[in-house]
Amino acid sequence: MDIRVRFAPSPTGPLHIGGARSALFNYLWARKNKGTFIVRSEDTDLERSSRESEQNILEALRWLNIQWDEGIEVGGERGPYRQTERLALYRDYTEKLLDNGDAYYCYCSEEEIEQERQTLIAKGQTPRYLGKCRHLSTEQRTVLETEGRKPVVRFRVPVTQAIHINDQVRGDVVFDSDGIGDFVLVKSDGIPTYNFAVVVDDVTMNITHVIRGEEHLSNTPRQVLIYQALRLPVPKFAHVSLILNTEGGKMSKRDGDTAVLDYQKKGYLPEAIVNFIAMLGWAPSGKEEFYTLDELAEVFSLDRVSKSPAVFDLQKLNYINAHYIKVSAPERLAELALPYVGEMGILPQEERSDKQQEWFANFIKAISGKITHMAEVKDFIHYFHGPVPLEPEGEALEVLRGEQVPAVLGLFRKKVREVELLSGATVKVLLKQMTKELKLGGKLVYMPVRVALTGQMHGPELYDVIPLLGGENVLKRLEVTEKRYLRGLRSPQG
Ligand code: GLU
Repeated sequence: MDIRVRFAPSPTGPLHIGGARSALFNYLWARKNKGTFIVRSEDTDLERSSRESEQNILEALRWLNIQWDEGIEVGGERGPYRQTERLALYRDYTEKLLDNGDAYYCYCSEEEIEQERQTLIAKGQTPRYLGKCRHLSTEQRTVLETEGRKPVVRFRVPVTQAIHINDQVRGDVVFDSDGIGDFVLVKSDGIPTYNFAVVVDDVTMNITHVIRGEEHLSNTPRQVLIYQALRLPVPKFAHVSLILNTEGGKMSKRDGDTAVLDYQKKGYLPEAIVNFIAMLGWAPSGKEEFYTLDELAEVFSLDRVSKSPAVFDLQKLNYINAHYIKVSAPERLAELALPYVGEMGILPQEERSDKQQEWFANFIKAISGKITHMAEVKDFIHYFHGPVPLEPEGEALEVLRGEQVPAVLGLFRKKVREVELLSGATVKVLLKQMTKELKLGGKLVYMPVRVALTGQMHGPELYDVIPLLGGENVLKRLEVTEKRYLRGLRSPQG
């Protein structure tokens, strides 16, 4: 059997982490089984759907390198792939269900339905449609229609039937048809509801496995009833657990961005996002944490998808992303990082020379082990760029008050002026010489130099910082620090 799976987002907003995970699991299952992965659009919510959201979703999938074999923009034999372009097909299936008596027209007004709902809730019963229009005669229908009522089409839910769903993740899940109530297949404007359209799409696209979020489990019995009424084989279902935050609550912006492309904007690497979301509800059998998309396609299996909720842990994502940053080619990182410093007016594209390009690549090399996503270059650039250090505060300011500081900085200036080439290696030698000549412990030398140059007590290695700052900026920064603090501080004592 050819495995055919699909990702069927509603284009009512950007692609979220949860949606990306559904897409990924379907993609991996298709790849693993040499099957077909389809992307289609559930755009029947006319008010909330937009092409802009659709584009965002497709762009995010492409960014993650989740490619589809059939579907929107790609085409295929079983299209069209947008529900609003498939309305004739839904009408055919509506006719079939009406002809067989599995569906009927319902003329109840929204107020009547709401009243019934309230009555059932007041009695402590599950609110559902009780079937007032189930047995209307042709005459009764004509009367209602002449009143100007526009009907919906409802599915005739069989009485007292156990509906079994053999879920690949959850095992046998049983629903009682009596709790369901005759549900709407087609709204009065002729637009099909999700439960109906999704079945028609899955049937006509020969879908073999439906892998989607757990929130759709409760819709599944309705869908199974439609398959049964149409006498069509039911696909295999796999409902993947919800994604919660580290406190066990619903994910919100506070726990991390929910939209996939926001991670792109922050300079996360797509392979890190893929690796991270693959582990949201699925676990490999071994201990290895890092997997490429190809590796995932090899090892992914539905029986290692977990029933319990997945936990979205931003720290874990940062850890994974930091790993991929460390193993990425410096040129790639430089290209990704440039826009962030560009935003700060540093090295704007128009006036970037080869030398600056090289400088930037070295800067990235110096910090690539320290950042979790590329936007963080903005937090590091001040160490390496420009003639003015950050202003030291608190303990850092204390460091500059040390009595050895004027001598340290004086000697440092002298040595910087003398040295022919400020490289990592020469800086190491130079600092060592200073400790010897001044007969001071390393910290008493390095720390004032660090604070004088960067305003901070911690940060990237001095032998990275100094060569990248370059002799001119180093001297200027020393001057700024001395002007700002040393003169003022020394003068009271004379
Ligand atoms: N449009 C649904 C959603 O975005 C997809 C449901 C399904 O996969 O059946 O959640």
